[in-house]
Amino acid sequence: MSETADILIVGGGIIGVATALELQTRNPATRIVVLEKEAVPAAHQTGHNSGVIHAGVYYAPGSMKARFCREGVQTTEAFCKEHDVAFDRVGKLIVATDESELAGLQRLGERARENQIAIEAVDQVGVRQLEPHVNAIAALLSPTTGITNYRRITEVMADLFVSRGGVIHYGQRVLSCEEGPSHVRVVTQDAAYEASLAVTCAGLHSDRVIRAFGHEPGYRVIPFRGEYYRLANQPENLVQHLIYPVPNPSRPFLGVHLTRKLDGGFTVGPNAVLAFKREGYRRTDISPRDMVQTLGYRGFWAMLGRNAGAAASELWSSTLKRAYLSRVQRYCSRITLADLQPYPSGVRAQAIAPDGTIIDDFLFIRSERCLHVGNAPSPAGTSCIPIARHIADELAALS
Ligand SMILES: Cc1cc2nc3c(=O)[nH]c(=O)nc-3n(C[C@H](O)[C@H](O)[C@H](O)COP(=O)(O)OP(=O)(O)OC[C@H]3O[C@@H](n4cnc5c(N)ncnc54)[C@H](O)[C@@H]3O)c2cc1C
Repeated sequence: MSETADILIVGGGIIGVATALELQTRNPATRIVVLEKEAVPAAHQTGHNSGVIHAGVYYAPGSMKARFCREGVQTTEAFCKEHDVAFDRVGKLIVATDESELAGLQRLGERARENQIAIEAVDQVGVRQLEPHVNAIAALLSPTTGITNYRRITEVMADLFVSRGGVIHYGQRVLSCEEGPSHVRVVTQDAAYEASLAVTCAGLHSDRVIRAFGHEPGYRVIPFRGEYYRLANQPENLVQHLIYPVPNPSRPFLGVHLTRKLDGGFTVGPNAVLAFKREGYRRTDISPRDMVQTLGYRGFWAMLGRNAGAAASELWSSTLKRAYLSRVQRYCSRITLADLQPYPSGVRAQAIAPDGTIIDDFLFIRSERCLHVGNAPSPAGTSCIPIARHIADELAALS
């Protein structure tokens, strides 16, 4: 079987689907085909995350993350309102639990102000009033942080795209690609597709897909599993806000946080442990190919060398539930071991450069007829619409 299109999109996560919808909205006559290897959209990172609409507190001023996240809060809320997807602007408290964290908290406050994000300093008494069950000596309140369901947003976007004439082929794993001067050709296990332009948004496989197009991505995806627990036995009013620790600035992840869920209750998590399979959601999931590619990559060892302490502590919290609990109890001491109930994990695609640098910002790689999304970690859920607009602008420059 062979099919032609104007634009091919590889990957039906939130970035691929938001991009398809954006391109179609700009040019309704364009024939756009999305190829997704799973049977449904949002099967990987998009369907396994914290569901937080990040306000944009943490990101380096001037970075794409800072800009797209700030815009993304508004675009995500507007999309949810227009299409009846649940969201709630619950607000977030970043809490310092001892004096050693105060300087970090202050730096975050300054960064939020540089990023033009609403932020309020809260003292110990203020924290008690806002959150009687939280132990903290000071906090930052981010009133514009919210929660939603990114899987649902992607499903709604996919339905809109298809109802307006777009095509999504599920169960189509892209295996090889050719990029010529006038077209791209993509081959899956049982079909071939040709188009003038292509966008790849392959998440945990982004480096492999870029390489299949004949380009050296300049990084490798190292998968980090984020393990969560759902809280049992706690009252519905345990906390009103999302509760986050002060993050360690040397780590790209935000720390184990307490998150309200839209359907009621709370989760704690995620930690960040090396996964032995790119889409390995359980500790026992192992892919020899993925392991060889991780362990055979010098960038992995260089990154590990610089972050050995953090890696050991994450592994410890994964292996020993009590160690995980102690991270939560720092700010909410009433949570006990019996309260931590199983909850599905997520796996993050973290791009690591050959020298071990953790690539922090979003990364887009342009070739003759393609735009490749290289790195789209958190807050790419929040930022999906600004990212889609950016991709559409970049693609317009190619055509
Ligand atoms: C644990 C965790 C917590 C997070 N929390 C948040 C949060 O609270 N807020 C936030 O904004 N962001 C959060 N994120 C980040 C967010 O989920 C991701 O940035 C976002 O989902 C990335 O979307 P994507 O479309 O790039 O990737 P994905 O959702 O992974 O989609 C990529 C798609 O490509 C497909 N694919 C791959 N290879 C091929 C191939 N060869 N052929 C065809 N299809 C292919 C995959 O099957 C997949 O469906 C979190 C992520 C994780 C893992």
